[in-house]
Amino acid sequence: MNDHIYLDSAASTPVADEVIDEMLPYFKQQYGNPSSMHKFGRETARAIQLARRRVAKMIDASPREITFTSGGTEADNLAIKGAAMHARIKASERTRIITSSIEHDAVLEPCRYLENLGLSVTYLPVAGDGLVRSSDLKSAMSNDVSLVSIMLANNEVGTIQPVKELAGIAHQAGALFHTDAVQAVGKIPTSVKRLGVDMMSMSSHKLNGPKGVGALYVRSGLEIAPIIHGGGQESELRSGTENVPNIAGFGKACELAANRMSQYQEQVSALRDYLIEKVAKEIPHSRLNGSQDRIPNNAHFTFFGVNGEDLIIKMDEHGIATSTGSACSVKKQKSSHVLKAMGFSYEEISGSLRLSLGMQNTKDEIDRTVGVLSSVVKELRELSPFKRKYA
Ligand SMILES: *Cc1c(COP(=O)(O)O)cnc(C)c1O
Repeated sequence: MNDHIYLDSAASTPVADEVIDEMLPYFKQQYGNPSSMHKFGRETARAIQLARRRVAKMIDASPREITFTSGGTEADNLAIKGAAMHARIKASERTRIITSSIEHDAVLEPCRYLENLGLSVTYLPVAGDGLVRSSDLKSAMSNDVSLVSIMLANNEVGTIQPVKELAGIAHQAGALFHTDAVQAVGKIPTSVKRLGVDMMSMSSHKLNGPKGVGALYVRSGLEIAPIIHGGGQESELRSGTENVPNIAGFGKACELAANRMSQYQEQVSALRDYLIEKVAKEIPHSRLNGSQDRIPNNAHFTFFGVNGEDLIIKMDEHGIATSTGSACSVKKQKSSHVLKAMGFSYEEISGSLRLSLGMQNTKDEIDRTVGVLSSVVKELRELSPFKRKYA
């Protein structure tokens, strides 16, 4: 399958060899329960400590501020439900959450769930470039807000939000600030101190680590309620025997990503810019979406007069993996809430395609991709009722 081209790194990434090497001993040799008092337990407890230090270092936090979870989704759930439940337990008067209308479902669905339980949630709009305007947050703030949750980088259009400024606004009104940084970690600087956030979600498989593990940064001194209760692992915040191999792999992936970040930015954004230029030159009636402030590996286009899902299928037949946006929304067969919030028309949403790159992609792959894309778009437009418009 070497002639296949993978341009869906925003959905998941290959696990790095060094990461696999780091994980392997914890399956067959060092299988002790990290809570056990014997040598086997000490070995795996040490592995978790090391991983916690590596993850913490990558985001400029201290190790005790890192709670391992089963992934980005659980980290988001823990941040939002955990903060809301803690406020309820303390009988706080702050019963409102503010989030944006372009969040990942892992943030939006917990918010909707809490709405059903009687909390109120404000969904901020975004401008056409996918950015939350700080003035909108300012006017939505008041002293009934417990938590503001706004993502650092969007998974569909790659837009980077002005999180530092937004967190400042939340804090001024006495609210906490959480950011979903799953798409940003390893690609742009994500120092929790610089960003000034109270909680931050991460996921391993978006940065060349294994699937099924992630972490929530919780600022030291901040109390939230657990959402999984049991044996009290992870400082009582996330019970359950730790997934040692995955956690060890995630730690290694963070170390690798931190060490190669400037190389990643240079290499991947140069390739991405080359792709954008080539699409603009070779495919008429196409448009780049999103903002200038975007993560290095994201390019999101609308090809007018075609259907994005047909495009994906055709590209896949040619061995090229692409996406309309989020893997989850494809399964649910609903059109992108992100693009809707950005004010896109039905036609603009329908013709959208995300190409997300990784370190493994080459210039030759981009050349081949744009060649195939160009002919596939032409072919689909021939079949389209808008044929004359885009001939
Ligand atoms: C992938 C993703 C998630 C979910 O992470 P999982 O580890 O797959 O559960 C959450 N938020 C964003 C922005 C993502 O891209």
